[in-house]
Amino acid sequence: MTEERSATDIFRLLSDDTRIDILRAVAVAQYELEQVGSGAAQLAFSEIYDYVEVENTSKLSYHLGELTGTYLRKSDDGYSLSHAGERIVRFILSGNYEQPDSFGPESIPGTCLFCGEDSLEARLSHQFFRIDCTECDQQVMGQPITPAQARTRGDEDLIRSVQLRSAEDYRQIRREMCPECGARLSGEIIEIPESPLPDSDTFVVTSSCEECLREYNSPLTYTVVHHPASIAFHWDHGIDVTSRGIWEFHDRVYDGRWTSKQVASDPDEYEVVLRHGDDAVRFHLDSSATVNRTERVRRERGEF
Ligand SMILES: [Zn+2]
Ligand SMILES: [Zn+2]
Repeated sequence: MTEERSATDIFRLLSDDTRIDILRAVAVAQYELEQVGSGAAQLAFSEIYDYVEVENTSKLSYHLGELTGTYLRKSDDGYSLSHAGERIVRFILSGNYEQPDSFGPESIPGTCLFCGEDSLEARLSHQFFRIDCTECDQQVMGQPITPAQARTRGDEDLIRSVQLRSAEDYRQIRREMCPECGARLSGEIIEIPESPLPDSDTFVVTSSCEECLREYNSPLTYTVVHHPASIAFHWDHGIDVTSRGIWEFHDRVYDGRWTSKQVASDPDEYEVVLRHGDDAVRFHLDSSATVNRTERVRRERGEF
């Protein structure tokens, strides 16, 4: 068992230029030395000494000793980054402690989930990419972005990256994985009385990460969009849901092509139907929004 250290101890270890230089040097050296398929390179003491400006070997030895256990791992073959070392050094190298560049407000294609108007406007607001409706003033989407994500892209490419991240996050949340920290999520379906959501879907799935305290909320219909049955169904109709932002589906919920309803109580069961033309895919979900069964259906006599 390693001795448990406080967050203050862990961050205090980094308040030293030489240690930050060491972590950066290990990342740079690994980047330069790694061969394809060889795994993370282990750096010998002498190799790190070549990369870092430090007065003498005993100083380097002292700083390596301080970092080892938290930010570095040491084996017989040398030093490599630990999980915390990886996270911190990638954070530093990518400049993700800077403020993101500004973007927008820019009009963006899509429909407002609340009023049905095609009047969406996107902009960066601190660390969030958010989309608001200029007609009813509701926020229809908000997603964290990183400063590097904004800095390395033009406007169009930034929107594309938000679409991809949106799809990726939904896919992970659907599999009960926190996109932020990787911990297991627990989902719960709640009905919102006097919901501002369209009548076609008044349920919200709330998934909470008890580790990093992120919370993810979405209409019930959206939780099945990245299920393989939906991906295949939409692909068959020429739509790649894996490269679309979730706000691009607002029109389907607003006009009632996508619906959810509760079909049983104790234990609670729900049904979500995603329609496209005369075809639909139907999902049966339990109270934790887990899909138990799916089926494709075709419209008959005007009904699904
Ligand atoms: Zn609106
Ligand atoms: Zn988390």
